[in-house]
Amino acid sequence: MHDIIKKLEQELHAALQQATSSDALEAVRIAFLGRNGHIAKLMQQLKELSLEDKRTVGPEINRLKQEAETGCLQKSEELTHANIRAEQEKQRFFDVTASVRKELTGSLHIYTRTIEDLENIFISMGYDVVEGPEIETDFYNFEALNIPADHPAREEHDTFWISDGRLLRTHTSPVQIRALTQRGTPLAIFAPGRTFRHEATDASHDFMFMQGELLYVDKQVSISNLLATAQTFLKAFFQTDHLNVRARPGYFPFVEPGIEIDASCPFCTGGCSICKRTGWIELLGSGLVHPHVLRSCGIDPEIYSGFALGFGIERLAMVKYGINDIRLFHGNNIEFLEQF
Ligand SMILES: [Zn+2]
Repeated sequence: MHDIIKKLEQELHAALQQATSSDALEAVRIAFLGRNGHIAKLMQQLKELSLEDKRTVGPEINRLKQEAETGCLQKSEELTHANIRAEQEKQRFFDVTASVRKELTGSLHIYTRTIEDLENIFISMGYDVVEGPEIETDFYNFEALNIPADHPAREEHDTFWISDGRLLRTHTSPVQIRALTQRGTPLAIFAPGRTFRHEATDASHDFMFMQGELLYVDKQVSISNLLATAQTFLKAFFQTDHLNVRARPGYFPFVEPGIEIDASCPFCTGGCSICKRTGWIELLGSGLVHPHVLRSCGIDPEIYSGFALGFGIERLAMVKYGINDIRLFHGNNIEFLEQF
């Protein structure tokens, strides 16, 4: 028995030394300490021995058992520490070229953001924000705006007609008529909204676009009021104190006189690619409200006057943010949208 125990002791030490994984260690533990392991078998054999032999062999088996138990425990701790060290080593040499999943953060759509900016500016100037229907009647879209059925200006409004005779509004100006007839005077409104034109698309034209419309009707409203309002609004929108406006004659059937307003380029002093090296950017269509329009809304043009001012919301945003294609606005291109 002494020799067998001695041999098992050597085997135990060798096996523990060779165990380099927790699975291998568990196998050693079962081989020695398991229910049918070496030590259990030795205990069986111990029963057969004489009392004399039991006294000497018993403690030896116990010693072997203790060695097996502490040996397995120590080895287990060693393996755990080795694993932790290996893990730390791995982290120390991380792969800088590995791709990292990008955090997705939401932001306001460029439309929402621009319209909110405009609304805040006009509300601070005393205007109410109003909306009108996108499906309009001929009366609100054309007739009441001094564009009767035979008027050549209708041809410029490539119109989407609906089979019942109504149409998709070609501009936000019908909101002027609705507000004037419903609210009366004095009136100061800002009307942003979708408009539609039946035309081919390119980088600066789309079949659907956003217009913003300003209307102010009161006693003694003049072109000076119009130009001052345009300058104040454009300064606020482009966030600059250095912006001038200039007026050129323009033609829109619902105003008289019609005025196109250019802004001095907010981005340069001598000329840049945005202003095409002219120092000026065409931005607004405007004019004093035509007496016919006031009359069709039941307002006496002898007492009241007003100005209307319209613009493409995309156009303003394109200039402000350097966007070169209007179709990007509703193209749902995430790479474009997440810049804002
Ligand atoms: Zn410029």
